[in-house]
Amino acid sequence: MVKETAYYDILGVKPSAQPDEIKKAYRKLALKFHPDKNPEDPEKFKQISQAYEVLSDPKKRDLYDEGGEEAIKGGGGSSQFHNPFDVFDMFFGGGASSRRRGPTKGRNAVHQMKVSLEDIYNGATRKLALQKNVICQKCEGRGGKEGAVEKCVTCRGTGVQIKMQQLGPMMMQQIQSVCSDCRGQGERINAKNRCKTCQGRKVIKESKILEVHVDKGMSDGENIRFHGEGDQEPGVEPGDIVVVLDEEQHDVYRRRGIDLLMQMELQLVEALCGFRKTITTLDKRTLIISTLPGEVIKHNEIKCIMNEGMPTYRNPFEKGHLIITFDVKFPEKLHHIADIEKFLPKREELVVPEGADEHDLVEYDPEEEKNHQYREAYHDDDDSDDEFGQGGQRVQCASH
Ligand SMILES: [Zn+2]
Ligand SMILES: [Zn+2]
Repeated sequence: MVKETAYYDILGVKPSAQPDEIKKAYRKLALKFHPDKNPEDPEKFKQISQAYEVLSDPKKRDLYDEGGEEAIKGGGGSSQFHNPFDVFDMFFGGGASSRRRGPTKGRNAVHQMKVSLEDIYNGATRKLALQKNVICQKCEGRGGKEGAVEKCVTCRGTGVQIKMQQLGPMMMQQIQSVCSDCRGQGERINAKNRCKTCQGRKVIKESKILEVHVDKGMSDGENIRFHGEGDQEPGVEPGDIVVVLDEEQHDVYRRRGIDLLMQMELQLVEALCGFRKTITTLDKRTLIISTLPGEVIKHNEIKCIMNEGMPTYRNPFEKGHLIITFDVKFPEKLHHIADIEKFLPKREELVVPEGADEHDLVEYDPEEEKNHQYREAYHDDDDSDDEFGQGGQRVQCASH
């Protein structure tokens, strides 16, 4: 039992989530709430980042599970967290370090692309349309005629405006803000000398279509990088475009590494008397499977077909297994019981000791029962708070 679930709730995962579930949840939410795409709610992006920072680090996660947010922050406030943009850049391929080197390299742009399991199994080429800034060819990125650029008078070229504000009779406060006249650029171009094509912005928006090659066996969350295809800006080396694969859920197959998992329903007659069935693979081939004569398949029994799993990335002829879990459907009611019994293994004779009680069987719902016991354990704890840990222990034992 964990003390708090807030970080788990932010990422939308259960406290029992595996590391890859946490990664996936972060990936999806960070892309959705990145201020580039969702400028209204920068706080949300920060929360997602902090939750991920804690839950992706086994030590911090243990600390949080035991002591909650209090234990993580340890009185130091939120200052121990990294900049959410750095966390994001690191996650999507180490952009943070290149950004620190100075303003010479632009930011990477991250785009998510949905792919089906079929795409990843067979390999695919997909087109991704996007908009990016390119340097205006007309003015060669100057924003106007040569020599038209002047230093901004308002901020004297610094891009920053400093205002003094009277707080009290003896107190002044300095407020820094982005210069409103040059929007922080530190320079201006006289309206009549401004480039007509880019309106003095030096860059123009251009539609671009990227061809994304999805290789056989790539993973969900795989980063495909297009070097130097990010937004252009004068004097800045453009960043990369990173395309992140987002594997869609499949109706039949689930993926676990290079293995494929599937459920197969069997009627009782098939489980007992044998079957022959077909499976359609992700490249539309038909596989036939059948039982051996006299073989019985039990409910939840697992079998596998070798080499019919996912192809290995960069080694696609090497494939995983196709793992089949059988789900035997039992009939609600049976007729001709005496006839059936004749052919089934004999039952054991019952010996009833004297004085034994006869009882009715009642339907049982384990979920309902768990809640019931949890409430009771919680109730016991009300008298002494410091026994909470023990109470938790008791609930666990009781639910076994
Ligand atoms: Zn200015
Ligand atoms: Zn221009």
